[in-house]
Amino acid sequence: MEQSLILVKPDAMERGLAGTIIARLEGQGFKLVAMKMLRMDRLLAERHYDVHRDKPFFKGLVEFITSGPIVAAVFEGENAVSGLRKAMGSTDPAKAAKGTIRGDFGQNIERNVIHGSDSVETAEKEIRLFFSGAEIFSY
Ligand code: UDP
Ligand code: MG
Repeated sequence: MEQSLILVKPDAMERGLAGTIIARLEGQGFKLVAMKMLRMDRLLAERHYDVHRDKPFFKGLVEFITSGPIVAAVFEGENAVSGLRKAMGSTDPAKAAKGTIRGDFGQNIERNVIHGSDSVETAEKEIRLFFSGAEIFSY
């Protein structure tokens, strides 16, 4: 069964959307197998977003994602990686369909409320950055 990492970003936390976002994903059939609240430090943020290191938005992205607490969660399900990406909607909320999390709650391309792994390989790496094996449940 596939697993994927989800982060409820600081903009969503500030707006009291953590429960709504987690509940939506549970309601769409994804199984919650790990969850914690934390504030990412610079090193974790730079590792998590390493593929974007050379992008013009990298510095701002690291500042944003470390600006407040987040909720990190692992969801499991059949084709969970692509299914969660679909539930999240496009990176830019202006282009995301209504009914998707970013389409309904995102404010702009940076403050887009949620992160989700983009491939099975990335998901495995990202999950390991946030969770130990003992923190991921099988039930
Ligand atoms: N981002 C940004 N400016 C951009 C593109 C992306 O601030 O022009 C941020 C945005 O928060 C996005 C994250 O960088 O979610 C990672 O970008 P990616 O292209 O991987 O989008 P995602 O996988 O999150 O949809
Ligand atoms: Mg991405």
